Amino acid sequence: MSIPNITGILKDLQINPVNQGCSTGIHWLHGNKTITSYSPVDGKPIAEVKLATDANYDSCIKVAQEAFRQWRLIPAPKRGEIVRQIGNRLRQHKQALGTLVSYEMGKSLQEGLGEVQEMIDICDFAVGLSRQLHGLTMHSERPNHRMYEQYHPLGIVGIISAFNFPVAVWSWNAALAWVCGDVCVWKPSEKTPLTAIACQKIAAEVFRKNNIDEGVCTLVIGNAEMGKKIATDSRIPLVSATGSTRMGKAVGEKVGARLGKALLELGGNNAIIISNSADLEASLIGAVFGAVGTCGQRCTSTRRLIIHNQIFEEVKRKLVNAYRQLKIGNPLDESNHIGPLIDKVAVENYMEAINRLNELGAKPVLEGKVLADFKSGCYVKPAIYEVENKMDIVQTETFAPILYLIKYSDIKEAIEIQNDVPQGLSSAIMTQNIRESELFLSHEGSDCGIANVNIGTSGAEIGGAFGGEKETGGGRESGSDAWKVYMRRQTNTINYGKDLPLAQGIKFEL
Ligand code: NAD
Repeated sequence: MSIPNITGILKDLQINPVNQGCSTGIHWLHGNKTITSYSPVDGKPIAEVKLATDANYDSCIKVAQEAFRQWRLIPAPKRGEIVRQIGNRLRQHKQALGTLVSYEMGKSLQEGLGEVQEMIDICDFAVGLSRQLHGLTMHSERPNHRMYEQYHPLGIVGIISAFNFPVAVWSWNAALAWVCGDVCVWKPSEKTPLTAIACQKIAAEVFRKNNIDEGVCTLVIGNAEMGKKIATDSRIPLVSATGSTRMGKAVGEKVGARLGKALLELGGNNAIIISNSADLEASLIGAVFGAVGTCGQRCTSTRRLIIHNQIFEEVKRKLVNAYRQLKIGNPLDESNHIGPLIDKVAVENYMEAINRLNELGAKPVLEGKVLADFKSGCYVKPAIYEVENKMDIVQTETFAPILYLIKYSDIKEAIEIQNDVPQGLSSAIMTQNIRESELFLSHEGSDCGIANVNIGTSGAEIGGAFGGEKETGGGRESGSDAWKVYMRRQTNTINYGKDLPLAQGIKFEL
């Protein structure tokens, strides 16, 4: 298997050895502070980025405010046409961008390419949406009156994104925001700045070719402090923030304090219930991919398996067999299933969780450890533990490939265990029993934003609204009617008669 040539890929994506970390569109700005992006794949430095300063940030916001005045005047389907062109440029750069995602973030090449495909898909979705930004009409209680509602653009959308989907999350937000008539300022994760610079260059070039040079698509690379600026900035009516629950609580508080809108996409603690009527082969694939895909660093990763006690030992045995076949190594080599964690801090978090499990007396099925053979220090062994759901470590999202096994005897008990965590993102049941699956999907069932039957917790299509409840933040992105968050709703009542009747029959005569 040949490993892609990273030098050629960086050239294709216009990534230089030293890059500027702020873009207002065609102009690039930067400060003096520099960070280096290291690949978790081999520990090598990929390139440097000069971070955006506070002054650079202000320039972006001013240019964005100006751009919004013009962008909102362009008819939505014409805005959609520009998003269509961005989707086409992404098609041209899919291989290169997907490879850089894999090299900078550490996910498998297949998943890197899949992430870019998701960007292309959301662009296509947004193009269709650009002709469907419709409100309802209502019957008025007053004669000769007409009522309807319409949606207007909001202004600047601030996008704060996480490292694990370094490019797709931006596109989920940006493609929808753009067709809605908004402009965007993007603060990507400081752990994956190069993929963000590549995306900015791809999109900004399309805007430039359409004579929209500045402000619709802006980028500020910085750390959490830059994210805090976005959260507190009342020039930004909507902040869409993806990341940990800790970050979401901080952002939600700041946006709430100024009565802005926050769209929060935070951590998950996702479970699959495996019933005694489940198809075990399909369940196994769903569980293993969910637990080890992206090295357990998806918000929808499967963290818990809630298994019927009659099949518990059999599932455990099959899981161990499946895990023994997993190949860990360079994610750019397609024969490997699992790559590295994002960095050494993530490895420390993984080890802390393993130590805590041992302290609490969790039973190791496959013990976790750091794989010392790999130079980057970021590769770990996927682990499995038998646990109690109430253990503090089980209640917490550890962003690593650690899978918890929990026994149940009754379907209602299984649902209770599944819901008994602070997070509420994704959930699944594997069953061939329609009573069980319908109960799981009913109001007595899963309390998550995503509830699946006979597929795992991981991986979502862009057509549905994506997000979760409780400490996952309540936000919805991507498909269905998630676009409504990016617009302000206005109710209009029009009187086409000669009189001025008041609502509720109130009389007021002069
Ligand atoms: P993180 O919370 O450390 O960082 C996410 C982003 O927030 C980064 O850009 C970071 O710079 C910024 N940030 C951090 N603290 C901030 C603050 N106080 N104010 C403003 N901005 C701040 O998360 P991460 O480690 O990059 O990503 C992993 C987490 O993201 C996991 O919890 C995962 O479940 C979650 N995630 C959720 C979804 C979802 O859709 N629900 C999708 C992807 C990732």
